Amino acid sequence: MHRIDSTVISPSSTALATLGEFGLIARIASGTRSGAGVVTGIGDDAAVTALSPGMQLLTSTDMLLEDVHFRRRWHDPYRLGRKSLAVSISDIAAMGGIPRWALLSLAIPPDIHLDFVDEFMRGFLAMASEHAVTLIGGDTCSSRSGVTVSVTLLGEQLPEQIIRRSGALPDDDIWVTGTLGDAALGLRLVEGLTVCSSDPREPVVEEAGPLLHRLLDPVPQVIAALALAEAGVATAMIDVSDGILADFGHIAEQSGVGGCLILDDLPLSPDFCSHTARLSTVPYQLVLSGGEDYELCFTAQPACREKIVDCMKKCGIAVTRVGIVTRSPGVTAVNRDGSQHIAQTEGFDHFT
Ligand SMILES: [Mg+2]
Repeated sequence: MHRIDSTVISPSSTALATLGEFGLIARIASGTRSGAGVVTGIGDDAAVTALSPGMQLLTSTDMLLEDVHFRRRWHDPYRLGRKSLAVSISDIAAMGGIPRWALLSLAIPPDIHLDFVDEFMRGFLAMASEHAVTLIGGDTCSSRSGVTVSVTLLGEQLPEQIIRRSGALPDDDIWVTGTLGDAALGLRLVEGLTVCSSDPREPVVEEAGPLLHRLLDPVPQVIAALALAEAGVATAMIDVSDGILADFGHIAEQSGVGGCLILDDLPLSPDFCSHTARLSTVPYQLVLSGGEDYELCFTAQPACREKIVDCMKKCGIAVTRVGIVTRSPGVTAVNRDGSQHIAQTEGFDHFT
């Protein structure tokens, strides 16, 4: 982030253009606090941080673009701020890493009101505080087409506790935390899209609040991830951001294995079930390929089943065994009778 000048903070009712870049940076910096491992935070040419003894640095970056990842008409700035950081925290957690320090870059149209920025930052810093993350820098600039948010998150972990995508072995179990498909269903409802193209009976939008909340304010599964890292039970792990089919596919590819997911075992929330009850079939494409679940998908040896259940129970996190790692490559989703589910899409891909 640029050097902080002693700019006068304007009232929040003004547009960004009247505040200027340095005023905006001062406004953002005024809300931040120092934290563990921060030697020099916002205000110099670069931040200085100190890793905990014996730990390695993990780095992850994410971009959120208006009208690609979110729409301002349904994503309030507070929850947008929270989500901007949550998705990066989820990536660090998926490696078994402890999230520590964040860099935030914002491109904002000059006519946006400061209320938007203030609420965005309130959400961002609330998420940071919940996970003991410190904002240590970033950048701001004026945008000619919508809001762009870029977050880089640094984390740390002992080398032996870092969990990669590449360690899955044939016959390992495939596990997932929480429930799948809620955010994807929420997005369908908020965008007024059909949930299941083959079925004209649509779920109702009313009372879609919990589903929308999963979309707008995802919870990164840090506690579960760190517990798994410490227990040393997961052979591979990833966070489910593009749908379990695509994301487990990354584990399979990097581990040189394949996998078989059992449709009936995929965990669905009561809200998902009640909103799709009037459809003739479960819209499994949302569960498999909808994306934005931000749950953890991991693999582990069958001998670790009890340990995993105990470990997640202590964290208060639901965990479900959803399939098995196969020696042959490729990921399939099957019904309990073994018949193969015909996938309608392979997960969210920005370039298709
Ligand atoms: Mg990820």
